[in-house]
Amino acid sequence: MDPVILVLNSGSSSIKFTLYWGEAVQFKGQISGLGATPRISLASRVSDTKVDRALTADEGRSHGAALAALLPVLEQELGERTVDAVGHRVVHGGVAHTEPVRLTKEVLADLKALEPLAPLHQPHNLAGIAAAREAFPEAMQVACFDTAFHRSHPWVNDTFALPQPLYDEGVRRYGFHGLSYEYICSYLKQAHPEIYAGRLVVAHLGNGASMCAIRDGKSIGSTMGFTALDGLPMGTRCGQLDPGVVLYLLTTKGMSPDAVSDLLYKQSGLKGLSGISQDMRTLTQSSDPKAAEAIEYFVFRIRRELGGMAAVLSGLDTVVFTGGIGENSALIREKVCEGQEWLDLEIDPARNAACAEVVSTDTSRINILVIPTDEEAMIRHHTEELLGNSR
Ligand code: ADP
Repeated sequence: MDPVILVLNSGSSSIKFTLYWGEAVQFKGQISGLGATPRISLASRVSDTKVDRALTADEGRSHGAALAALLPVLEQELGERTVDAVGHRVVHGGVAHTEPVRLTKEVLADLKALEPLAPLHQPHNLAGIAAAREAFPEAMQVACFDTAFHRSHPWVNDTFALPQPLYDEGVRRYGFHGLSYEYICSYLKQAHPEIYAGRLVVAHLGNGASMCAIRDGKSIGSTMGFTALDGLPMGTRCGQLDPGVVLYLLTTKGMSPDAVSDLLYKQSGLKGLSGISQDMRTLTQSSDPKAAEAIEYFVFRIRRELGGMAAVLSGLDTVVFTGGIGENSALIREKVCEGQEWLDLEIDPARNAACAEVVSTDTSRINILVIPTDEEAMIRHHTEELLGNSR
């Protein structure tokens, strides 16, 4: 029988889940609003099962309680089958974890120690793992890291210009969104091998946003650094910032480290700039000049990084847009590509408006592609591989 793999992506207030066996996704859904107004919604891809209901406060009080509420639906869908392995998205694998790994007590202790490096994600990823270990005690538990794909990047993009001992203790540019970049590469390798073999920049533009320069399927540079704060502005995160600003906030303004952390992670980016929303759809539909300014800054930073990455790659053959904004916003893609004829990069307005896979013109030397990312498929792939190796 095909192995049954459950993929979990646990965030602060949500758990996204996908169940696989055979060729297809069996069902997909999420528990949202944990700790506030919890809700479960899922839809089977192979049966009529559809669930969309509020969870009780008790069911939604923790990741563990929410997974327990999901179990009866899962069991009904599984029938005679059991979950063989659970694959988890884990944001930070540190220096040590360069590939997916089976979760043991030792690995979990390693990952816990990395919590300060990804305070917005890592604790919730680990809460999801604890809940899954309890709910599926017989299943293999696997961690797949957002940092792993970038461990190949060269030293110059791994270090900061700080004294070497800090590098040695792990103060490095880790880069994130690695599962998304890995998926895009695996898709290109199969569907467009000639593009895969070239110089690529992938822009993963979602609520979290980053860009990655890729050569021969390997990351050689990423806009994200030590934490997922660096690089592009995001929904609520600031992106690139002069560290002097942090010193000013701490010393001159006397803000506490917690207050600075809250400001940089939760009050900045599109939300902070616009004062309206962190949601790009809301901003693109707004006529408020503040929304336009936030969009302008977002686009400016993408263009700046694109130029830098083209230089680092010694040229550019393909730009890929992915993530919620990259996949859906023709406006952002158009603005990023505007006036880039000097690079021989030209977007086709009709193809772009239709969100076609190839949105460059026929005469553009640089390909511009829109590819929906699928981090869950990557996690399934790795989990199945580790499961296969263990049998
Ligand atoms: P996450 O990083 O949480 O996975 P997503 O990749 O789902 O986020 O991206 C969410 C972002 O995508 C939001 O800012 C949302 O407004 C934006 N988005 C989704 N659809 C559109 C659209 N049609 N136009 C503009 N922005 C969109």
